[in-house]
Amino acid sequence: MNLSSLNNLSNLNNLSSLNNLNTQNTQLNPTNLINLNNLYINNEIKENNILRTLDNKTKVGFEFEFKIAIFDLDQTLWNGENLYKDSLNILKTLYRHDIKIYLVSFNLEADKICKLLNIEKYFDEIYFTREKTKLQIIKEIILDYPDIKEKEVVFFDDLAHNLYEVNINSNIQTIKIDNDGIDWTYIPIKYVYRFYHYLYD
Ligand SMILES: [Mg+2]
Repeated sequence: MNLSSLNNLSNLNNLSSLNNLNTQNTQLNPTNLINLNNLYINNEIKENNILRTLDNKTKVGFEFEFKIAIFDLDQTLWNGENLYKDSLNILKTLYRHDIKIYLVSFNLEADKICKLLNIEKYFDEIYFTREKTKLQIIKEIILDYPDIKEKEVVFFDDLAHNLYEVNINSNIQTIKIDNDGIDWTYIPIKYVYRFYHYLYD
């Protein structure tokens, strides 16, 4: 496990699901049970000569596979009349998990629309211009985050052209939003498991 994932783990303590940890092992002899109190991402298990894992892993939460989320507005977050069904919940959840959130739109009314939809407060910044490409704007945004890798940035848009431009010129994750707008299935997450360890007999 690398250092960055260890840093991410501290954030997991905020996940409400952690408060409901399964205590299925309490019936085992506690002297033989060593709960290293470690969390492992997916199947990544730390090697240790004197310990082995049992297969009783417990899903304890999830984390987002990005640190900055950049959204298009039209046909991504809203359809011209309403937000899509998961839009608000996605923005709220990312905001609560300290993900940086940006809006990048060619719609020159984007700031007004966000205020109208009452979502402007979730964005670190709202960009709306036709003077620059989305790639140019996104490159400017990430300049402010020298510690964040491009692959830790995700860009959501409904137009393939915008995504393609970013995709071939960066390592940023690009996600195409289809006709029904954004929903949770588009959001890259990985599940986090807790493993229990036992000493060899
Ligand atoms: Mg669009």
